[in-house]
Amino acid sequence: MSEKTNSEILKPIKTRSGGTWPPASPIDRGVFISTYGCQMNVADSERMYAVLEMQNYTQVPSADLAEVIIINSCSVREKPVHKVYSEVGSYRVLKGRNPKLKIGVGGCVGSQEKGNLTKKQPLIDFVFGTDNIDELPEILAKLDDKYKKVIQSQFHHRTPYHIQTMVTQPGVAQFVNITKGCDNFCTFCVVPFTRGREKSRPLQHVLKDFQDFSLKGTKEITLLGQNVNSYKSECGADFADLLEILSRETDLLRIRFTTSHPKDFDQKLVDVMARYQSKLCEYIHLPFQSGNSRVLEMMNRGYTREEYLQKVAMIRAAIPGVVLSTDIIVGFPSETEAEFQDTMSLVEEGGFETIFAFMYSPRPMTKAASFESQLPEDVKSERLQRLFAHHEALADGWVKKYEGQTLQVLVEKFDQNRSNWVGRSTQNKLVYFAGDQFTENLIGQVCPILISKARPSVFRGDLVKL
Ligand code: SF4
Repeated sequence: MSEKTNSEILKPIKTRSGGTWPPASPIDRGVFISTYGCQMNVADSERMYAVLEMQNYTQVPSADLAEVIIINSCSVREKPVHKVYSEVGSYRVLKGRNPKLKIGVGGCVGSQEKGNLTKKQPLIDFVFGTDNIDELPEILAKLDDKYKKVIQSQFHHRTPYHIQTMVTQPGVAQFVNITKGCDNFCTFCVVPFTRGREKSRPLQHVLKDFQDFSLKGTKEITLLGQNVNSYKSECGADFADLLEILSRETDLLRIRFTTSHPKDFDQKLVDVMARYQSKLCEYIHLPFQSGNSRVLEMMNRGYTREEYLQKVAMIRAAIPGVVLSTDIIVGFPSETEAEFQDTMSLVEEGGFETIFAFMYSPRPMTKAASFESQLPEDVKSERLQRLFAHHEALADGWVKKYEGQTLQVLVEKFDQNRSNWVGRSTQNKLVYFAGDQFTENLIGQVCPILISKARPSVFRGDLVKL
Protein backbone atom coordinates (compact mmCIF):
# COMPACT_ATOMS: atom_id res chain seq x y z
CA MET A 1 0.00 0.00 0.00
CA SER A 2 1.50 3.36 -0.98
CA GLU A 3 1.93 6.00 1.74
CA LYS A 4 0.58 9.49 1.20
CA THR A 5 3.11 12.32 0.92
CA ASN A 6 2.77 15.39 3.12
CA SER A 7 1.67 17.49 0.18
CA GLU A 8 -1.09 14.98 -0.63
CA ILE A 9 -2.26 14.97 2.99
CA LEU A 10 -2.36 18.79 3.11
CA LYS A 11 -3.96 19.20 -0.30
CA PRO A 12 -7.12 21.27 0.37
CA ILE A 13 -10.39 19.45 -0.24
CA LYS A 14 -13.76 20.97 -1.15
CA THR A 15 -16.33 21.33 1.66
CA ARG A 16 -20.12 21.47 1.58
CA SER A 17 -20.17 25.29 1.87
CA GLY A 18 -17.96 25.59 -1.23
CA GLY A 19 -14.82 26.28 0.81
CA THR A 20 -11.75 24.15 1.34
CA TRP A 21 -10.28 22.04 4.12
CA PRO A 22 -8.00 23.16 5.74
CA PRO A 23 -9.99 26.41 5.62
CA ALA A 24 -8.63 29.47 3.81
CA SER A 25 -8.00 32.67 5.79
CA PRO A 26 -11.02 34.91 6.24
CA ILE A 27 -11.27 38.11 4.22
CA ASP A 28 -11.77 41.35 6.14
CA ARG A 29 -15.56 42.07 6.27
CA GLY A 30 -16.26 39.06 4.02
CA VAL A 31 -19.92 37.89 4.01
CA PHE A 32 -21.20 34.46 3.01
CA ILE A 33 -24.93 33.73 2.78
CA SER A 34 -26.28 30.21 2.61
CA THR A 35 -29.74 30.32 1.02
CA TYR A 36 -32.55 27.78 1.32
CA GLY A 37 -36.06 27.77 -0.11
CA CYS A 38 -37.99 29.73 -2.67
CA GLN A 39 -37.20 32.55 -5.10
CA MET A 40 -38.34 35.05 -2.44
CA ASN A 41 -35.45 33.85 -0.30
CA VAL A 42 -33.03 34.10 -3.23
CA ALA A 43 -34.15 37.70 -3.75
CA ASP A 44 -33.86 38.37 0.00
CA SER A 45 -30.27 37.06 0.01
CA GLU A 46 -29.45 39.40 -2.88
CA ARG A 47 -30.85 42.25 -0.82
CA MET A 48 -28.78 41.21 2.23
CA TYR A 49 -25.59 41.28 0.16
CA ALA A 50 -26.52 44.66 -1.31
CA VAL A 51 -27.38 46.19 2.09
CA LEU A 52 -24.09 44.96 3.55
CA GLU A 53 -21.99 46.01 0.56
CA MET A 54 -23.14 49.57 1.25
CA GLN A 55 -21.40 49.18 4.62
CA ASN A 56 -18.17 47.98 2.97
CA TYR A 57 -18.77 44.28 3.43
CA THR A 58 -17.66 42.02 0.57
CA GLN A 59 -19.45 38.97 -0.80
CA VAL A 60 -17.21 35.88 -0.57
CA PRO A 61 -17.77 32.52 -2.31
CA SER A 62 -17.39 30.23 0.71
CA ALA A 63 -17.92 30.22 4.46
CA ASP A 64 -14.25 29.81 5.37
CA LEU A 65 -13.48 33.20 3.77
CA ALA A 66 -16.19 35.01 5.73
CA GLU A 67 -16.27 37.10 8.87
CA VAL A 68 -20.07 37.09 8.73
CA ILE A 69 -22.02 33.93 7.86
CA ILE A 70 -25.78 34.15 7.39
CA ILE A 71 -28.11 31.20 6.96
CA ASN A 72 -31.18 32.47 5.10
CA SER A 73 -33.52 29.68 6.11
CA CYS A 74 -36.83 28.31 4.90
CA SER A 75 -39.47 26.69 7.08
CA VAL A 76 -41.99 25.62 4.46
CA ARG A 77 -40.71 22.05 4.33
CA GLU A 78 -39.70 19.53 6.95
CA LYS A 79 -37.07 19.82 9.68
CA PRO A 80 -36.03 23.40 8.90
CA VAL A 81 -34.69 24.13 12.40
CA HIS A 82 -32.78 20.88 12.36
CA LYS A 83 -31.11 21.93 9.08
CA VAL A 84 -30.12 25.28 10.58
CA TYR A 85 -28.54 23.67 13.66
CA SER A 86 -26.71 21.16 11.53
CA GLU A 87 -25.27 23.85 9.24
CA VAL A 88 -24.28 26.10 12.15
CA GLY A 89 -22.58 23.11 13.80
CA SER A 90 -20.46 22.63 10.68
CA TYR A 91 -18.99 26.11 11.26
CA ARG A 92 -17.70 25.25 14.78
CA VAL A 93 -14.08 24.98 13.61
CA LEU A 94 -14.27 28.31 11.78
CA LYS A 95 -15.69 29.95 14.89
CA GLY A 96 -12.92 28.46 17.03
CA ARG A 97 -10.31 29.71 14.60
CA ASN A 98 -11.70 33.25 14.29
CA PRO A 99 -13.30 34.84 17.37
CA LYS A 100 -14.46 37.75 15.16
CA LEU A 101 -16.68 35.43 13.09
CA LYS A 102 -20.38 36.24 13.47
CA ILE A 103 -23.00 33.64 12.59
CA GLY A 104 -26.60 34.71 11.97
CA VAL A 105 -29.89 33.09 11.03
CA GLY A 106 -32.47 34.96 8.95
CA GLY A 107 -35.49 34.09 6.84
CA CYS A 108 -38.55 32.15 7.95
CA VAL A 109 -36.83 30.16 10.71
CA GLY A 110 -35.53 33.44 12.15
CA SER A 111 -39.07 34.87 12.22
CA GLN A 112 -40.48 31.68 13.68
CA GLU A 113 -37.90 30.63 16.28
CA LYS A 114 -36.46 33.99 17.40
CA GLY A 115 -34.40 33.71 20.62
CA ASN A 116 -34.86 29.93 20.84
CA LEU A 117 -32.14 29.62 18.22
CA THR A 118 -29.40 31.30 20.25
CA LYS A 119 -30.51 29.47 23.40
CA LYS A 120 -30.25 26.07 21.76
CA GLN A 121 -27.19 26.76 19.60
CA PRO A 122 -24.78 29.21 21.30
CA LEU A 123 -22.65 29.46 18.13
CA ILE A 124 -25.44 31.65 16.67
CA ASP A 125 -24.72 35.35 17.35
CA PHE A 126 -27.74 36.98 15.76
CA VAL A 127 -31.23 36.20 14.53
CA PHE A 128 -33.35 38.38 12.27
CA GLY A 129 -36.73 37.99 10.61
CA THR A 130 -38.02 38.49 7.10
CA ASP A 131 -38.97 42.11 7.91
CA ASN A 132 -35.53 42.98 9.33
CA ILE A 133 -33.14 42.60 6.39
CA ASP A 134 -32.44 46.33 6.14
CA GLU A 135 -31.46 46.31 9.84
CA LEU A 136 -28.48 43.99 9.22
CA PRO A 137 -25.83 46.76 9.44
CA GLU A 138 -27.36 47.90 12.76
CA ILE A 139 -27.39 44.30 14.06
CA LEU A 140 -23.73 43.78 13.16
CA ALA A 141 -22.80 47.14 14.69
CA LYS A 142 -24.51 46.08 17.94
CA LEU A 143 -22.41 42.91 17.99
CA ASP A 144 -19.26 44.96 17.38
CA ASP A 145 -20.31 47.12 20.32
CA LYS A 146 -21.27 45.51 23.61
CA TYR A 147 -24.01 43.07 22.67
CA LYS A 148 -23.28 39.34 22.99
CA LYS A 149 -26.38 38.23 21.04
CA VAL A 150 -28.88 40.22 18.96
CA ILE A 151 -32.43 39.06 18.14
CA GLN A 152 -34.40 41.34 15.78
CA SER A 153 -37.28 39.38 14.34
CA GLN A 154 -40.38 41.48 14.91
CA PHE A 155 -42.77 42.19 11.99
CA HIS A 156 -43.30 45.79 10.93
CA HIS A 157 -47.02 45.33 10.40
CA ARG A 158 -47.80 49.04 10.16
CA THR A 159 -44.91 50.09 7.95
CA PRO A 160 -45.82 50.37 4.26
CA TYR A 161 -43.88 48.16 1.86
CA HIS A 162 -41.79 50.97 0.39
CA ILE A 163 -38.45 49.50 -0.60
CA GLN A 164 -36.33 49.72 -3.69
CA THR A 165 -35.10 46.41 -5.12
CA MET A 166 -31.41 46.02 -4.36
CA VAL A 167 -29.00 43.59 -5.98
CA THR A 168 -25.23 43.56 -6.19
CA GLN A 169 -24.94 42.73 -9.89
CA PRO A 170 -28.06 42.94 -12.06
CA GLY A 171 -28.30 39.89 -14.31
CA VAL A 172 -30.04 39.18 -17.61
CA ALA A 173 -32.97 37.76 -15.63
CA GLN A 174 -33.89 39.40 -12.37
CA PHE A 175 -36.41 39.02 -9.53
CA VAL A 176 -38.50 41.94 -8.27
CA ASN A 177 -40.70 41.53 -5.19
CA ILE A 178 -44.10 43.18 -5.49
CA THR A 179 -45.96 41.68 -2.53
CA LYS A 180 -44.85 40.16 0.74
CA GLY A 181 -46.62 38.09 3.37
CA CYS A 182 -49.93 36.33 2.99
CA ASP A 183 -53.44 36.65 4.44
CA ASN A 184 -54.82 33.37 3.12
CA PHE A 185 -53.96 31.06 6.01
CA CYS A 186 -54.04 27.79 4.12
CA THR A 187 -54.22 25.34 7.01
CA PHE A 188 -50.92 23.60 6.09
CA CYS A 189 -48.82 26.72 5.51
CA VAL A 190 -46.50 28.54 7.87
CA VAL A 191 -45.92 31.57 5.60
CA PRO A 192 -48.53 33.88 7.19
CA PHE A 193 -46.68 33.35 10.49
CA THR A 194 -43.14 33.74 9.13
CA ARG A 195 -43.68 36.52 6.59
CA GLY A 196 -46.54 38.40 8.22
CA ARG A 197 -49.58 40.10 6.71
CA GLU A 198 -49.77 40.74 3.01
CA LYS A 199 -48.47 44.07 1.71
CA SER A 200 -47.98 45.43 -1.82
CA ARG A 201 -45.38 47.83 -3.14
CA PRO A 202 -46.59 51.04 -4.81
CA LEU A 203 -46.95 50.70 -8.57
CA GLN A 204 -44.58 53.63 -9.22
CA HIS A 205 -41.83 51.90 -7.21
CA VAL A 206 -42.15 48.71 -9.27
CA LEU A 207 -42.12 50.76 -12.47
CA LYS A 208 -38.95 52.52 -11.33
CA ASP A 209 -37.27 49.15 -10.65
CA PHE A 210 -38.12 48.05 -14.18
CA GLN A 211 -36.69 51.21 -15.69
CA ASP A 212 -33.50 50.95 -13.60
CA PHE A 213 -32.94 47.27 -14.42
CA SER A 214 -33.64 47.89 -18.09
CA LEU A 215 -30.93 50.58 -18.18
CA LYS A 216 -28.50 48.11 -16.59
CA GLY A 217 -29.08 45.49 -19.30
CA THR A 218 -31.68 43.22 -17.66
CA LYS A 219 -33.96 41.62 -20.26
CA GLU A 220 -36.41 39.62 -18.14
CA ILE A 221 -38.03 40.29 -14.77
CA THR A 222 -39.96 37.84 -12.64
CA LEU A 223 -42.43 39.54 -10.30
CA LEU A 224 -42.42 37.78 -6.95
CA GLY A 225 -44.90 37.40 -4.14
CA GLN A 226 -46.33 34.62 -2.01
CA ASN A 227 -49.63 35.49 -3.61
CA VAL A 228 -48.56 37.70 -6.45
CA ASN A 229 -51.94 38.10 -8.13
CA SER A 230 -53.64 39.56 -5.06
CA TYR A 231 -51.38 42.62 -5.57
CA LYS A 232 -53.14 45.90 -4.71
CA SER A 233 -51.24 49.15 -5.12
CA GLU A 234 -51.96 52.11 -2.85
CA CYS A 235 -53.36 53.88 -5.95
CA GLY A 236 -55.94 51.09 -6.42
CA ALA A 237 -54.24 49.24 -9.30
CA ASP A 238 -54.64 45.47 -9.17
CA PHE A 239 -52.28 42.85 -10.58
CA ALA A 240 -53.79 42.93 -14.08
CA ASP A 241 -53.42 46.74 -14.13
CA LEU A 242 -49.81 46.42 -12.98
CA LEU A 243 -48.98 43.89 -15.71
CA GLU A 244 -50.62 46.05 -18.35
CA ILE A 245 -48.69 49.17 -17.30
CA LEU A 246 -45.38 47.31 -17.06
CA SER A 247 -45.92 45.74 -20.49
CA ARG A 248 -46.92 49.04 -22.10
CA GLU A 249 -44.53 51.46 -20.45
CA THR A 250 -41.26 49.57 -20.07
CA ASP A 251 -38.92 48.13 -22.67
CA LEU A 252 -38.11 44.88 -20.85
CA LEU A 253 -38.29 41.98 -23.27
CA ARG A 254 -40.01 39.53 -20.96
CA ILE A 255 -42.10 39.58 -17.79
CA ARG A 256 -42.93 36.56 -15.64
CA PHE A 257 -44.58 36.20 -12.25
CA THR A 258 -44.91 33.68 -9.45
CA THR A 259 -46.73 32.44 -7.36
CA SER A 260 -50.36 32.86 -8.35
CA HIS A 261 -53.32 31.80 -6.25
CA PRO A 262 -56.10 30.16 -8.29
CA LYS A 263 -58.85 32.02 -6.45
CA ASP A 264 -57.38 35.38 -7.57
CA PHE A 265 -56.79 34.35 -11.19
CA ASP A 266 -59.61 36.10 -13.04
CA GLN A 267 -60.70 36.88 -16.58
CA LYS A 268 -59.26 40.40 -16.43
CA LEU A 269 -55.79 39.01 -15.72
CA VAL A 270 -56.08 36.39 -18.45
CA ASP A 271 -57.18 39.05 -20.95
CA VAL A 272 -54.14 41.22 -20.16
CA MET A 273 -51.85 38.20 -20.56
CA ALA A 274 -53.42 37.43 -23.93
CA ARG A 275 -53.17 41.07 -25.10
CA TYR A 276 -49.50 41.43 -24.17
CA GLN A 277 -48.33 37.89 -24.89
CA SER A 278 -45.31 39.28 -26.74
CA LYS A 279 -43.97 40.38 -23.33
CA LEU A 280 -45.90 38.40 -20.74
CA CYS A 281 -44.49 34.89 -20.96
CA GLU A 282 -47.02 32.12 -21.61
CA TYR A 283 -46.07 30.23 -18.46
CA ILE A 284 -48.19 30.15 -15.30
CA HIS A 285 -47.44 28.43 -12.01
CA LEU A 286 -50.84 27.71 -10.50
CA PRO A 287 -50.69 25.50 -7.39
CA PHE A 288 -53.73 23.23 -6.97
CA GLN A 289 -52.40 21.34 -3.90
CA SER A 290 -55.12 18.66 -3.99
CA GLY A 291 -57.47 17.35 -6.68
CA ASN A 292 -60.24 16.63 -4.20
CA SER A 293 -62.76 19.27 -3.10
CA ARG A 294 -63.17 17.96 0.47
CA VAL A 295 -59.41 18.08 1.01
CA LEU A 296 -59.24 21.52 -0.60
CA GLU A 297 -61.82 22.76 1.87
CA MET A 298 -59.81 21.32 4.76
CA MET A 299 -56.80 23.11 3.33
CA ASN A 300 -58.80 26.38 3.24
CA ARG A 301 -57.79 26.94 -0.38
CA GLY A 302 -60.94 28.84 -1.38
CA TYR A 303 -61.82 26.83 -4.51
CA THR A 304 -63.13 23.41 -5.51
CA ARG A 305 -61.67 20.98 -8.05
CA GLU A 306 -64.32 22.09 -10.54
CA GLU A 307 -63.59 25.79 -10.02
CA TYR A 308 -59.88 25.13 -10.46
CA LEU A 309 -60.49 23.31 -13.72
CA GLN A 310 -62.66 26.19 -14.93
CA LYS A 311 -59.72 28.55 -14.35
CA VAL A 312 -57.46 26.24 -16.33
CA ALA A 313 -59.98 26.15 -19.19
CA MET A 314 -60.28 29.96 -19.13
CA ILE A 315 -56.48 30.32 -19.30
CA ARG A 316 -56.03 27.76 -22.09
CA ALA A 317 -58.84 29.32 -24.15
CA ALA A 318 -57.24 32.78 -24.04
CA ILE A 319 -53.49 32.13 -24.22
CA PRO A 320 -52.28 29.94 -27.08
CA GLY A 321 -49.51 27.52 -26.13
CA VAL A 322 -49.68 28.39 -22.44
CA VAL A 323 -47.64 26.08 -20.19
CA LEU A 324 -48.86 25.33 -16.68
CA SER A 325 -46.99 24.05 -13.66
CA THR A 326 -48.34 23.35 -10.20
CA ASP A 327 -47.64 22.54 -6.54
CA ILE A 328 -49.16 19.44 -4.94
CA ILE A 329 -49.31 18.15 -1.38
CA VAL A 330 -49.94 14.43 -0.92
CA GLY A 331 -50.97 12.73 2.30
CA PHE A 332 -52.82 15.69 3.85
CA PRO A 333 -54.46 14.59 7.13
CA SER A 334 -57.36 12.19 6.47
CA GLU A 335 -56.73 12.06 2.68
CA THR A 336 -58.13 8.73 1.45
CA GLU A 337 -56.78 6.64 -1.42
CA ALA A 338 -59.80 7.71 -3.52
CA GLU A 339 -59.08 11.36 -2.77
CA PHE A 340 -55.45 10.86 -3.70
CA GLN A 341 -56.67 9.37 -6.99
CA ASP A 342 -58.47 12.70 -7.60
CA THR A 343 -55.07 14.39 -7.36
CA MET A 344 -53.61 11.86 -9.82
CA SER A 345 -56.40 12.51 -12.30
CA LEU A 346 -56.15 16.30 -11.96
CA VAL A 347 -52.48 16.12 -12.95
CA GLU A 348 -53.62 14.56 -16.21
CA GLU A 349 -56.68 16.75 -16.77
CA GLY A 350 -54.74 19.94 -16.09
CA GLY A 351 -51.90 18.91 -18.43
CA PHE A 352 -49.15 20.20 -16.12
CA GLU A 353 -45.79 19.83 -17.82
CA THR A 354 -44.01 20.42 -14.49
CA ILE A 355 -45.14 19.58 -10.97
CA PHE A 356 -43.59 20.36 -7.59
CA ALA A 357 -44.97 17.71 -5.24
CA PHE A 358 -44.35 17.15 -1.54
CA MET A 359 -45.50 14.92 1.29
CA TYR A 360 -47.60 16.77 3.84
CA SER A 361 -45.64 17.55 6.99
CA PRO A 362 -47.10 19.37 10.01
CA ARG A 363 -45.69 22.88 10.43
CA PRO A 364 -45.68 24.70 13.77
CA MET A 365 -48.55 27.15 14.43
CA THR A 366 -50.63 25.85 11.50
CA LYS A 367 -54.17 24.54 11.89
CA ALA A 368 -53.58 21.29 10.00
CA ALA A 369 -50.86 20.28 12.46
CA SER A 370 -53.62 19.67 15.02
CA PHE A 371 -55.94 17.79 12.65
CA GLU A 372 -56.72 14.22 13.57
CA SER A 373 -55.98 11.37 11.16
CA GLN A 374 -52.42 12.36 10.34
CA LEU A 375 -51.27 9.74 7.83
CA PRO A 376 -48.29 7.43 8.44
CA GLU A 377 -45.04 8.43 6.73
CA ASP A 378 -44.91 5.28 4.62
CA VAL A 379 -48.39 5.94 3.17
CA LYS A 380 -47.45 9.54 2.29
CA SER A 381 -44.15 8.49 0.82
CA GLU A 382 -45.67 5.72 -1.29
CA ARG A 383 -48.30 8.12 -2.68
CA LEU A 384 -45.64 10.67 -3.55
CA GLN A 385 -43.61 8.09 -5.48
CA ARG A 386 -46.73 6.98 -7.37
CA LEU A 387 -47.55 10.60 -8.21
CA PHE A 388 -44.06 11.28 -9.55
CA ALA A 389 -44.09 8.11 -11.66
CA HIS A 390 -47.56 8.94 -13.01
CA HIS A 391 -46.53 12.49 -13.90
CA GLU A 392 -43.23 11.50 -15.45
CA ALA A 393 -44.93 9.08 -17.82
CA LEU A 394 -47.44 11.76 -18.86
CA ALA A 395 -44.99 14.67 -19.10
CA ASP A 396 -42.50 12.63 -21.14
CA GLY A 397 -45.18 12.30 -23.81
CA TRP A 398 -46.48 15.88 -23.55
CA VAL A 399 -43.11 17.56 -24.08
CA LYS A 400 -42.33 15.51 -27.19
CA LYS A 401 -44.39 18.05 -29.13
CA TYR A 402 -41.55 20.56 -28.71
CA GLU A 403 -39.10 18.39 -30.66
CA GLY A 404 -38.76 19.95 -34.09
CA GLN A 405 -40.13 23.32 -32.87
CA THR A 406 -38.01 26.47 -32.75
CA LEU A 407 -38.21 28.21 -29.36
CA GLN A 408 -37.00 31.72 -28.57
CA VAL A 409 -34.39 31.31 -25.84
CA LEU A 410 -33.06 34.18 -23.73
CA VAL A 411 -29.45 33.17 -23.08
CA GLU A 412 -28.44 33.53 -19.42
CA LYS A 413 -24.95 32.02 -19.28
CA PHE A 414 -22.36 29.66 -20.70
CA ASP A 415 -22.32 26.39 -18.76
CA GLN A 416 -18.62 25.51 -18.47
CA ASN A 417 -19.31 21.93 -17.32
CA ARG A 418 -21.41 21.07 -20.35
CA SER A 419 -19.67 23.53 -22.73
CA ASN A 420 -23.13 24.72 -23.73
CA TRP A 421 -25.04 27.97 -23.74
CA VAL A 422 -28.09 27.85 -21.52
CA GLY A 423 -31.22 29.95 -21.29
CA ARG A 424 -34.98 29.85 -20.97
CA SER A 425 -37.75 29.88 -23.52
CA THR A 426 -40.90 31.95 -23.01
CA GLN A 427 -42.54 28.70 -21.80
CA ASN A 428 -39.92 28.61 -19.00
CA LYS A 429 -38.11 25.62 -20.51
CA LEU A 430 -34.45 25.32 -19.64
CA VAL A 431 -32.69 24.94 -22.99
CA TYR A 432 -29.08 23.94 -23.67
CA PHE A 433 -27.41 24.42 -27.04
CA ALA A 434 -23.88 24.07 -28.33
CA GLY A 435 -21.73 27.08 -29.17
CA ASP A 436 -18.41 28.72 -28.71
CA GLN A 437 -18.15 31.18 -25.86
CA PHE A 438 -14.97 32.75 -27.28
CA THR A 439 -16.12 33.77 -30.73
CA GLU A 440 -19.50 35.16 -29.75
CA ASN A 441 -21.07 36.38 -26.51
CA LEU A 442 -24.73 35.39 -26.57
CA ILE A 443 -25.59 36.35 -22.98
CA GLY A 444 -28.67 38.58 -22.98
CA GLN A 445 -29.59 37.72 -26.57
CA VAL A 446 -32.78 35.96 -27.64
CA CYS A 447 -31.75 33.06 -29.90
CA PRO A 448 -33.96 30.82 -32.04
CA ILE A 449 -33.23 27.25 -30.98
CA LEU A 450 -34.46 24.21 -32.89
CA ILE A 451 -35.31 21.64 -30.21
CA SER A 452 -33.84 18.22 -30.87
CA LYS A 453 -34.46 16.55 -27.49
CA ALA A 454 -37.20 17.45 -25.01
CA ARG A 455 -37.34 15.97 -21.51
CA PRO A 456 -39.75 17.33 -18.87
CA SER A 457 -37.02 19.19 -16.99
CA VAL A 458 -34.55 20.11 -19.71
CA PHE A 459 -34.42 20.67 -23.47
CA ARG A 460 -31.52 20.42 -25.89
CA GLY A 461 -31.32 22.05 -29.32
CA ASP A 462 -29.30 23.85 -31.96
CA LEU A 463 -28.96 27.49 -32.81
CA VAL A 464 -30.84 28.35 -35.98
CA LYS A 465 -28.56 30.43 -38.20
CA LEU A 466 -30.57 33.26 -39.74
S1 SF4 B 1 -51.61 31.23 -0.30
FE1 SF4 B 1 -51.65 29.56 1.19
S2 SF4 B 1 -49.88 28.28 0.56
FE2 SF4 B 1 -49.58 30.27 -0.41
S3 SF4 B 1 -48.31 31.44 1.04
FE3 SF4 B 1 -50.45 31.96 1.51
S4 SF4 B 1 -51.03 30.53 3.14
FE4 SF4 B 1 -49.15 29.70 2.17
